[in-house]
Amino acid sequence: MTRQIEEPARRIDVIHETDVLVVGSGPGGLAAALASARAGVKTTLVERYSCFGGNITQVGVEGFAWYRHPTTIDSEGIGREFEDRAIAMDAALPEPQSISHALDAEAFKHVADVLVREAGVIPMLHRLVVAPIMEGDVIRGVIVESKAGREAILASRVIDATGDADLAFRGGAPTIKHPVDEMMSVSVMFSMSGVNKARFIEAVKADPQTYGDWSGGGEWDITTSGKEDEMFSPFLRKPFRQALKAGLLPPNLATIAGTWGTVSDQGDLTYLNLVHHYLDGTDPDSLTRGEMDGRADAMHAIAALRAFMPGCETAKLRNFGMTLGIRDTRKIDAAYNMTGDDVRGEARFEDSIGIFPEFIDGYGLLILPTTGRYFHVPYRSLVPKGIANLIVAGRVIGGDKVSHAAVRNMMCCAVSGQGAGVAAAVSVKTGRDFASVDVAAVQAELRRQGARIH
Ligand SMILES: Cc1cc2nc3c(=O)[nH]c(=O)nc-3n(C[C@H](O)[C@H](O)[C@H](O)COP(=O)(O)OP(=O)(O)OC[C@H]3O[C@@H](n4cnc5c(N)ncnc54)[C@H](O)[C@@H]3O)c2cc1C
Repeated sequence: MTRQIEEPARRIDVIHETDVLVVGSGPGGLAAALASARAGVKTTLVERYSCFGGNITQVGVEGFAWYRHPTTIDSEGIGREFEDRAIAMDAALPEPQSISHALDAEAFKHVADVLVREAGVIPMLHRLVVAPIMEGDVIRGVIVESKAGREAILASRVIDATGDADLAFRGGAPTIKHPVDEMMSVSVMFSMSGVNKARFIEAVKADPQTYGDWSGGGEWDITTSGKEDEMFSPFLRKPFRQALKAGLLPPNLATIAGTWGTVSDQGDLTYLNLVHHYLDGTDPDSLTRGEMDGRADAMHAIAALRAFMPGCETAKLRNFGMTLGIRDTRKIDAAYNMTGDDVRGEARFEDSIGIFPEFIDGYGLLILPTTGRYFHVPYRSLVPKGIANLIVAGRVIGGDKVSHAAVRNMMCCAVSGQGAGVAAAVSVKTGRDFASVDVAAVQAELRRQGARIH
């Protein structure tokens, strides 16, 4: 049995009180905070790291809408605003496989700051939320840890946008986590500088890769609906195959393959999604191993690209993501758990809080929304069981694997985030809990904010 000690109880300062407290600032939490503040209630956004943006800014996941094609019927609202604002602030570049823009992970840190300030959200960086403050099954706030020590923040409503459902889980709400061998992989993301763009693009055009090429082992072994197979994908496997043959990559790194995001005129090759491991993203020992092994693998990948990818001959590492990229941990067991049939069958829900195109990417499945099909995201999939005053946003909403492969995408996280933020504001204003909130009032405010509900 693990050796244990008694942690003494202590009194701590309540440093802040707010109407709506959003924990976590990824596409889900950032959208939630903006939506809540714009709906007119006092809103506070707490984030453990030094910048808002979650996976976008902390991991370097820049492909915000790489699924978008001319026929795609896409979400509207704050997610689109992220992309439009990034374009306007020179924080985005045209994305090579779609009609979207990829966000610039570094510059988007500033875009997020500006959005937070403009909306009047109270910003709190550098505070890790370590526990919910519970009264029975009602959440009343959170305990945070920082360089200032341990502090309390009280709130009328809390939004769990931690990506891992930390608050729902610690507050006793039922959550679901697959065994590691059934989870999506984690990735150390990185970018390179000093790439000769003209040579790189010439090589890509000379041997264009497709989504069909993803099949061939490991993380990238996928099933499509067939229509995706011949479409262009910014995919890299051949240089790594050549490096394996040449003995430049050790045999255990046959898994290295994946996508690149953009290459800038200045020679930055970004969003290199090439290194994959399987581990539990809620276990710090596994995370430690994953970070260190992943960085070592990335250096091998760079050596392979320098040797076998035209344009990369003198390129070097620009940066690693601030943290390992986690795709899949806990999800809540929600009032309604979405299903694969919902996302593949254009589900329609009375309590829709937004739409998302039929874009499914994960658990070995890739479907692109090239046909105008889309589904509704139901409000109930954001509402956890067994805990009051708490709602979730982002990739943790309730659903099965196939629905998760759709709703985990950043644009859809912004949809659930905007829905959660507005629901929290309406809930505060009307004094009704999330389980009984007036969904029509939530939908009306979402429409006022520019979201598409149906
Ligand atoms: C390598 C990789 C590639 C991907 N590629 C794509 C892609 O191309 N397109 C796409 O749409 N999606 C992609 N995804 C998925 C997408 O990035 C995530 O599903 C999405 O970012 C989840 O958003 P979120 O807001 O739920 O959580 P996150 O983006 O994970 O944000 C959670 C935030 O909460 C903070 N936080 C967590 N715990 C605490 C705490 N206890 N206290 C305070 N703060 C806390 C974190 O620091 C973080 O800022 C990718 C994911 C990965 C890992």
